[in-house]
Amino acid sequence: MPFPLRIYISHEVIQKRGRKAYASAVLNVMTQKLQIIGLDADDTLWQNEEFYRVTQARFAELLSDCCPEDDLQARLLEAERRNIGHYGFGIKGFMLSMIETALEVTEGKVSGAVIAEILAAGQDMLQHPITLLPHAERVVRDLSQAHKLVLITKGDLLDQERKLAQSGLGDYFHGVEIVSDKRPEIYTRAFQRHGAAADHALMAGNSMKSDVIPALEVGAFGVYIPSAYIWALEAAEAPETHSRYHRLPDLGGLPELVAMIENR
Ligand SMILES: [Mg+2]
Repeated sequence: MPFPLRIYISHEVIQKRGRKAYASAVLNVMTQKLQIIGLDADDTLWQNEEFYRVTQARFAELLSDCCPEDDLQARLLEAERRNIGHYGFGIKGFMLSMIETALEVTEGKVSGAVIAEILAAGQDMLQHPITLLPHAERVVRDLSQAHKLVLITKGDLLDQERKLAQSGLGDYFHGVEIVSDKRPEIYTRAFQRHGAAADHALMAGNSMKSDVIPALEVGAFGVYIPSAYIWALEAAEAPETHSRYHRLPDLGGLPELVAMIENR
């Protein structure tokens, strides 16, 4: 599908934003340039889910006398699903869901020592050092030369700020949006806040459900970059037939894909 051309720019807009903005808008239309590239953070730029898996194994070990591992993991996932609306996404909510599950499977008899272990496991997660995924540094640096990059991530505010600071990638981003959930309207607002209509934006990430589908829904390009591990609550069907849906084997191919979208 061709890139939608928006060549109607009202006099009001020209008066308000000036001739320079008008010229840049016309140029963007002519070159079909993407005005914003949104990037997810966890498991797109740096490792994340792996730490949850390690903690879940530790959790299973702690409760191995009370509950078989498969059953425990299923109950934990159910607790997380129930609690998302109350706690939001991130490690703190995960810790509370582990505690709730521990109470559930022991019928309230879980010891203080086990609760302390669960809290310690969660605190370890909050301090784990950042491991960038392959290509992340080069791709973010390259794309930032000619594009506005916006990091769009959910999770605990403090934890995401810490990870971004440690990643060393912060300066490449024009903006950072740490959001409570990734609903379609969140993308519309985030793109607008940084000066772009959704149809001139692209969102790339490892979650089909959170990064790709809602971005496609508001008219942006959606790029799925699968990660080694995916949380069960982030899985969704691929919108294979959508003309703006793309899938890359890893982050390394993103600059090339952006160039292809802009030049076709
Ligand atoms: Mg992610």
